[in-house]
Parts: sequence; structure tokens; C-alpha cells
Amino acid sequence: MTWPPLLRLKEALGPAAELVVVGGAVRDELLGRPHADWDLATDLLPEVVMGRARAAGLKVIPTGLQHGTVTVILEDRPVEVTTFRTDGDYRDGRRPESVRLGVGLHEDLARRDFTINAMALPVGGGDLVDPFGGQADLAARLIRAVGDPLQRFAEDGLRPLRACRFAAQLGFEVAAATGAAIPSRLEVARKVAQERVFTELDKLLHGAEPERGLRLLESTGLLDLWLPELRPMVGCGQNRHHRYDVWEHTLRVVAQAPADPGLRWAALLHDAGKPGTRTVDERGETHFYGHEALSLDLADALLTRLKASHALRQEVAALIGLHGIHPTDAWGDPACRRFLRRLAEASLPLARWAAFRLADHQGKGLAPEAWEGDYRAMLARLEALAATAPPLSVRGLALDGAALMKLAGKGGGPWLGDLQRQLLEAVLDDPTANTPERLAALVLQLLAGGSGSAER
Ligand code: ATP
Ligand code: MG
Repeated sequence: MTWPPLLRLKEALGPAAELVVVGGAVRDELLGRPHADWDLATDLLPEVVMGRARAAGLKVIPTGLQHGTVTVILEDRPVEVTTFRTDGDYRDGRRPESVRLGVGLHEDLARRDFTINAMALPVGGGDLVDPFGGQADLAARLIRAVGDPLQRFAEDGLRPLRACRFAAQLGFEVAAATGAAIPSRLEVARKVAQERVFTELDKLLHGAEPERGLRLLESTGLLDLWLPELRPMVGCGQNRHHRYDVWEHTLRVVAQAPADPGLRWAALLHDAGKPGTRTVDERGETHFYGHEALSLDLADALLTRLKASHALRQEVAALIGLHGIHPTDAWGDPACRRFLRRLAEASLPLARWAAFRLADHQGKGLAPEAWEGDYRAMLARLEALAATAPPLSVRGLALDGAALMKLAGKGGGPWLGDLQRQLLEAVLDDPTANTPERLAALVLQLLAGGSGSAER
């Protein structure tokens, strides 16, 4: 069941050495799920692993000798080989003070977080080593701490979040005692570094059932540690355009959005500004005027705090900023082209915007008859217009800057940008005007100060 190149390493280490696959790879192999890497554990000390692997002609990198880890390259893939170890005391709720090598496989498995992550599979054949009932929990679809969850969550504050993350990725329940231990360990969880939190939240959001993970964050109180801006969404009632409150709507949009970083984070954050902008008018109608702008601010503050990448922040901002615009089939072509320009300026492909919009619609919980036809017609319209590749920026104008300067008989300056913007507006209104001749005529007219379009 294991990857054949691992046998080469097993041979290099010698027949007496123990070499087992551990952790996520075992879990995912048993589930028949794809996994990115093979983590191995051995009874040999790291220096010995290095020596023997090198002697057999394998490339080895001493990546974490103090933790007992070396990386061996097998068929161009890095494989981590870690000496069986146990963790020393945890003093800061984040990582052990020390690790101790020279222990047995059972102790190594006992330090691991959940039973489904605490199994080992010998390389080259042999029975699964499963001291904590991981296989039974896989069958029962349960995330259960190894040992006493209160103690395990006191050692390392990341584990409660990992429980929610695995629940979202695998669609599993968290075992009762494991889940019940989380609320009393929030002060430990609070100390975890934001980067590690982001990594886990990101995996949670990409999971097969992200809404399950998010519900767990909410019910256990983890939400308030790392995503406090989202708490007011819970129970925030909406209007006749929505069946659910803001939080429930959000969970559905996240689940419906395609599983890629920008879309899932934007789905989580797109309506964060609703609670803070909620008003009820004299007729009893609820409104959220300007919520997009507040959502943008909250999303950026939250993602900055979590040390998300600039690229992710940009894409989330583009999606949130544009989610308040509702193109319809009734729009004129110029308005549709101006919308396409906004997408282009935000580097947001139409298909991604449309996928997000679809998820947002689906998350409202209304009958598809009420919106699906309009959505499809609007999208078909935008797609057809986009397929004609109209100029959406000054770069697409039939006269470039040099030609315009020649026509005007003057050198570059702020006037040039102004002129290009006016020409683009004219071309957005009527793309057939984008020929050198017609643009030249328009330039002369504009330079003579003869057209009102300069004020647009
Ligand atoms: P993924 O598929 O996301 O890589 P994984 O289970 O392999 O999931 P890793 O973070 O790669 O997760 O960790 C590898 C293994 O190390 C885990 O399966 C688990 O046995 C152990 N482990 C990781 N983090 C912790 C932790 N915070 N506490 C205890 N054990 C942990
Ligand atoms: Mg892993």
C-alpha cells in the first residue's frame, strides 16, 4: 500500500532498522484520499539515517536535526524521516521545550494529536500499528484526541483548531469529550502564532465541508479568538431577499464557492460589514447600505492580522468590492462594458466573479426560479460582450500615446492621460469608434474644447 520508492530507503537503512509511514499519509491512504507527502519515522538517530542514505547514493538534507528530522529525496520528492521521539514539557502552549529521541514507536505515536493521525504503516509490509483505535475512529468518522483532550489541548493551543480543520476536510464529527474540552482551553489557543492559525483556517476553508468547521469554530468559541469580526453575523437577521441570517448565509456561500483561496476567503468575509450597517426603515424593511465598504475594511484588517499574502488580500478585496454591483440583462451595452472594465482593473476574470456571484445567490436560500434565469441571462450577456474583446483600458485604444502627442503637436503631460481617459469613455460607449480615423477626429474635437464628454 505504500509508495514503491520508499523501499529503496528501507534497503539503504538496513534490515534491522524500523521504518514506518506515519501521520497524515497513513490516514489518507486508509481513506483512499490523495495526499501530498509521505512522512516517515524510524528508530535510527538522524546522523545514522543521513550516513546510510548517503552511502546508498541518496540525496539527504539535514532539515531539522535538533528535532530528529532529515529530508531524503526520493524520485525528486522530499520525504521527511524523523527519529521516534517524545515531546518534553510544554511551557508556553505552543511547542515543547525539548524533544527526546531514542524512544519507541508507541511513544512517538502517543505524542500525536488525534487517533486518526497516530497510526503507523511499516515500509515493506507488516501490520498497521494502531494503539489508540485510529482505524475504528476512521470508520466511525470521528476526530478524537489521543489521551486526555484537556491535557493535550493545554500542551498545544493549535490542536483545537486542527480538530475543526480535520472535521472540515474529512467531513467527520469531533468526538464528544474532545469537542467539550475546547472551550476550557481557549486561553492556550489564544497564544498560537497568527501564521499557524492562518494555515489551519485556510485548510479548513478549502475542506470538503467548510461549514462544518466554521460551525465548530463558532460553537466552541475559537471564532472569537481569531475571527472576532465575524461574531456579530451570528443571528443577524436579514430581509425578504434572504432566507437565512448573515452567518447562516455566509456558511452556505462558503460551501458553494469553488474551493480556491480567493473565493473561499471572500465568501467568508463578503458580508462581514452587514451587522454594522443594519438599519430598519419605517416600513419595517431591513437594509445594509454601504456594507461592502465596511466588509472591505474588516476583511483587510482580519487578513492583515493573520499575515495573509498580499495577493490573497487583493483578490478578496476585488471580490468583496464588486459583490454589491448587480448587473442585469436589462443593462445597456455601455454599462456592461464599464462593468467588464472594473473586473479587468481588479484583475478578476469574469468566470471567477460569476462563480462567486452564483455562490452568493445559492446561499440566499431562495427558490432557483426566483433568480437563476436572470443570473444566466445576465452572464450570457456579459460573456458575449467580453468575447468581442472590446477595449477596456487605454492600452486598447487604436491610437497610442505617441500618435496622440503627434496629433496634438505637444509633448507628454497630464493632458495626455486625461485625453486617453476621455477617448476610452467614448469607445466604451461605442466600440466602433475605436479606429485611428474616428479617434483622430474625436481628438481634434476634444482639443478644440468642443465636446461635453470631457466632463464625464
Ligand atoms: P496534512 O494532510 O494537512 O499534511 P497531516 O495530518 O499530515 O495533515 P501535518 O501538520 O503535516 O498534518 O502533521 C503530520 C503529523 O504530525 C500529524 O498527522 C500528527 O500525527 C502530527 N502532528 C502535527 N501537528 C501536531 C500537533 N500540533 N500536535 C500533535 N501532533 C501533531
Ligand atoms: Mg502532512
